[in-house]
Amino acid sequence: MPNPLTPLLERYPVLILDGALATELERRGCDLRDPLWSAKVLLENPELIDQVHQDYFRAGADCVITASYQATVAGFMRRGLTPEAALETIQRSVQLAIAARDAFWRDEANHAGRPRPLVAASVGPYGAFLADGSEYRGDYSLNETELMNFHRPRLAALLAAGPDLLACETIPCWTEAQALARLLAEFPEACAWFSFSARDDEHISHGERLADCVAGLDAVPQIVAIGVNCTAPRHIPALIAAARSATRKPIVVYPNSGETYDAARHAWCGPATVDAFALEAQRWYDAGARLIGGCCRTTPAHIAQIAAWARRLQA
Ligand SMILES: [Zn+2]
Repeated sequence: MPNPLTPLLERYPVLILDGALATELERRGCDLRDPLWSAKVLLENPELIDQVHQDYFRAGADCVITASYQATVAGFMRRGLTPEAALETIQRSVQLAIAARDAFWRDEANHAGRPRPLVAASVGPYGAFLADGSEYRGDYSLNETELMNFHRPRLAALLAAGPDLLACETIPCWTEAQALARLLAEFPEACAWFSFSARDDEHISHGERLADCVAGLDAVPQIVAIGVNCTAPRHIPALIAAARSATRKPIVVYPNSGETYDAARHAWCGPATVDAFALEAQRWYDAGARLIGGCCRTTPAHIAQIAAWARRLQA
């Protein structure tokens, strides 16, 4: 597939991504305390995913990310699905997002001042399938070839469902980035953005320097943007600078809301607000990011606030 970002980035200063899916599903009454997390809703309540996608399009998202982050063949088989049913469920995540996009775009009133939105198929890390927290550590027992074997069937299924691109996201370690990059070469028609999770201003979750990882991916033509997601917003400006030092590809950032998880109280706590997040997002643009959205705990309100300033840039 041709690079789907090029025509949008030539015309618009910012490609606005969506926000969190899981927390929005929880707000609609889903119980996601499950190893499948949001992928569980693909099985049980797909129309809720459609609603969340619609809300993000209405908020201003130029790209939504499918509900396949934790949807894997192995994960669904553990739940009793056949391999065929597992692959169909993975594909349903893309079909749902495309249907939501097409429904939104059928109304011409939605066309003003914005591009036809894209659908990015989420490829979550191996650790998301393990559901043991290793998605933020990257301390896997699998080597690169084993990681390729793990990711291959889902990647093939997602691509067969026809997304605009892949979102290889929340990548915690260089080994997994390399595995995904090598796997991507098996699907020469595919494009992807690669997004790491980071633990500070300089290092991805497993400890490698972000600049080194970005440099290592820079020559892969199928990778159309590189950046960081699922990371505290305070680290983002320095991480953007690190990424830009190693590539001229567009930089993608979609950090968490800025609230922190208090494990003792089992609760998220402030001080982050929607306005503060949107204001910081403007700094990420100033620092050179072109694809901007939110990860955990961000909502359509966060995306609407980003759209409020991003659309003004176009005027
Ligand atoms: Zn996240």
